[in-house]
Amino acid sequence: MSNSSGGRAGGGSPGASGEHEGAGGIRAAPSSRVHAEVSARLALQKDLARHLRAGHPWVFRKALERPPRGLAAGDIVDVVEGDRFVARGYYDPHSAISVRVLTREPAEAIDGAFWRRRIQRAMALRRALVHGTTGFRIVHGESDGLPGVVADRYGRWAVLKLYSAGLTPHRGQIVEALRQVAAEVDGERGGETGWPGPLAGVYGRDEIPRDGEDDGGSPQGRVLWGAEPPERIAIDEHGMKILVDVRRGQKTGTFLDQRENRRMVRGLARGRAEALNCFSYTGGFSVAAALGGAKHVVSVDLDADAIALARENFRENGLDPDAHAFAADDVFEVLAGFKREGRRFDLVVCDPPAFAKSQKAVEGALAGYASLNRAALAVLSPGGLLVTASCSARVSAEQFYDAVKEAAFKARAELQLVDERRQPPDHPVSPQFREGRYLKCMVYRRVS
Ligand code: SAH
Repeated sequence: MSNSSGGRAGGGSPGASGEHEGAGGIRAAPSSRVHAEVSARLALQKDLARHLRAGHPWVFRKALERPPRGLAAGDIVDVVEGDRFVARGYYDPHSAISVRVLTREPAEAIDGAFWRRRIQRAMALRRALVHGTTGFRIVHGESDGLPGVVADRYGRWAVLKLYSAGLTPHRGQIVEALRQVAAEVDGERGGETGWPGPLAGVYGRDEIPRDGEDDGGSPQGRVLWGAEPPERIAIDEHGMKILVDVRRGQKTGTFLDQRENRRMVRGLARGRAEALNCFSYTGGFSVAAALGGAKHVVSVDLDADAIALARENFRENGLDPDAHAFAADDVFEVLAGFKREGRRFDLVVCDPPAFAKSQKAVEGALAGYASLNRAALAVLSPGGLLVTASCSARVSAEQFYDAVKEAAFKARAELQLVDERRQPPDHPVSPQFREGRYLKCMVYRRVS
């Protein structure tokens, strides 16, 4: 499975494009290797403290009065306005975002207890609001007060993904905090149905952009604590099994953000003869459709390993993969072929990777969503349902809605919007961090 940037955004640190640090002025105190200590005070340019005080977690290099010098990745720094403390965070020399904010409390030290408090807070949300699944996101970066940190729970394992070089010196403390918090929760919830049980290991897979490039998803995943995960971890998502390959799978292994939408598709599939899952990855929506009653499901994804795992996922759920179809192919070509052949579907799911990876790419992304949805509508029967998603943080729900509107017009399809969804509670959004509100999933019914 290619674990490169081909996959969906999944809400890491969108927009964290990196550039190399140029020569800079002198501001920083000599950096300390004790990461709990504050290594420097960095002055903000005039009037730029407001959005930080309001809760936004990023300090761009261009927002600093002087480029910092003598600081190492991961150094803890205070961001100040004149003499006034504004926020404390970690430094990243490789990113256009120089500092990611960890606290606005001047007395709060960034030590082992800090990471533990934050992860306890994140876990409290999951315990209260996430049920019926042994796969869930434990930490969702910025919106859980831990910028650049993503941790997903897959059964008895956790997968940690760090999105900034500034986090790597803190990795040991983060892993220890994950372990401790899991043990605390397990003490209270052990044996409860749906709870995955004690943590067996923490597997690490960083995705640290450098020089504006993705690092290709860090092929060197490794065990950070505990036992090696098995080749495939089976999670139970609302009664549906999903096999997850945490080593080679995209992102941390699978896309947990579509959980509730997969469940919805299961409910919508009843009595549908032909279903098509575009960008199927390992077949989550496909299995949901088949379990929900769709007679024949076609899964299409460029990633051949993901398609192979999709077949296994059918088997894992008691479904015969040979009664369905799988194509390791390009969705656009497959849709064009189906249109030529006159093939029609009663349910089409379309969950592509993020089309807009930067603000400049938004125009192109909107055109991409319009043409993709137009092609999807060309194979949708009257009475059929289109479940269409966008995970580009920079594309708003309104813009996405307009792209589908344009697609419907061009495809001469009369549509009704019947449902509109966002991301589940284990992918929360901090209102100050609008970049975190990335997932849109709309359900349309084709009237004619
Ligand atoms: N719906 C999936 C997640 C989809 S992620 C789930 O619920 O798990 C997006 C997928 O699109 C990735 O698996 C990636 O391999 C695939 N992809 C990207 N470009 C593609 C293309 N042009 N044709 C087919 N698949 C593509």
